Amino acid sequence: MRITKVRAVPHTVHNTLTGWKISTGGSDTHSLIFIRIDTDKGVFGVGVASPGQIFISGDTQAHCLEMINQVFGPAIVGTDPFDIEAIVSELDGLSKGVERAKAGIDLALYDLMGKALAVPANALFGGAVRERVRVTRLMGMYAPKEMAEKSSAIVRKGYTALKLKVGTTLKEDVERVQRVREAVGPDVTITIDFNMHCTPKEAIERIQKMDPYDVAIAEQPVKDTNLRGMALVRQNVRPLILADESVHSAVDALRVIENEAADVLSLKIPKMGGIFKVRKVAAVCEAAGVGYLIGTAPGSRLLDAANVHLAVSLRDLSLPCEIGEFERMGNDPCRGFEIVEGFSTPPQRPGLGVEVDLTKLDLGD
Ligand SMILES: [Mg+2]
Repeated sequence: MRITKVRAVPHTVHNTLTGWKISTGGSDTHSLIFIRIDTDKGVFGVGVASPGQIFISGDTQAHCLEMINQVFGPAIVGTDPFDIEAIVSELDGLSKGVERAKAGIDLALYDLMGKALAVPANALFGGAVRERVRVTRLMGMYAPKEMAEKSSAIVRKGYTALKLKVGTTLKEDVERVQRVREAVGPDVTITIDFNMHCTPKEAIERIQKMDPYDVAIAEQPVKDTNLRGMALVRQNVRPLILADESVHSAVDALRVIENEAADVLSLKIPKMGGIFKVRKVAAVCEAAGVGYLIGTAPGSRLLDAANVHLAVSLRDLSLPCEIGEFERMGNDPCRGFEIVEGFSTPPQRPGLGVEVDLTKLDLGD
């Protein structure tokens, strides 16, 4: 089987919870790219790339689109889609970085391979070691009272894990956690994400002050490159420290682990360049005995279906994962995949297993 055509188109989804912010910025829309890869056997796959907000990724939809349509796509036409190690290696040779564009191609390839063999995507990387995964839902940084109300609404839908975006003042951050805890009760797992807002000493003070409200995980309290600062925070607070912005690759994972800077690493398909590369980072964590979970870029059911295929395949996964954010997105061209009572189960249809409205995307034949 040979790849005959690679096409990528832009698509924008919007956050139905308006005014969503994190400590580094905010936007009510998310620019995505849908990618269709065709073969000479008539089988095709569809993937999605999440270029990410520019203040997070440093990249844009226009740049990722150009890289897929003008550089990566033409380079893999003529190759066998099952030669994924060779394809990923070829893309890395063509361009440093641009992992978010590469991830979209990786997802289209897994969708394609699954359809070609009539198996769900996770069967292509070892199969499922669990049936379903508990979902963490994210909550943007709103005023404390509003954040508590919005968080309660999510918990009422059956979710048992929340990640709260924080990173303004000490007083406000502590009040956010306090009000949410009081609103959702003692049994919900709470993660807080600073998105690098604090100095190490600020982070230690804030996390210690939140101690009465039982925070399970504190994510990326300090700047991505400050691994010694992360290690200092880790030594001085009770919650697990989760590295996100500090880890984009297996090399980064090694550095975080060598610096004893985190208890858990956030594995993300867009940030790390696709399922194939994420599984290599996961292997580093497994070798070191460091934890991991699946983080997300909000966007489409297609990405979260890929996320859950990946999550069920990871042997050491024990924490809830960020694989339900499609629920708050409007204009998703995908259907046939939902979260049930706070848990996600991978679709059993071939490939990624989600129905994509190709006509709407202008990716029909
Ligand atoms: Mg994060």
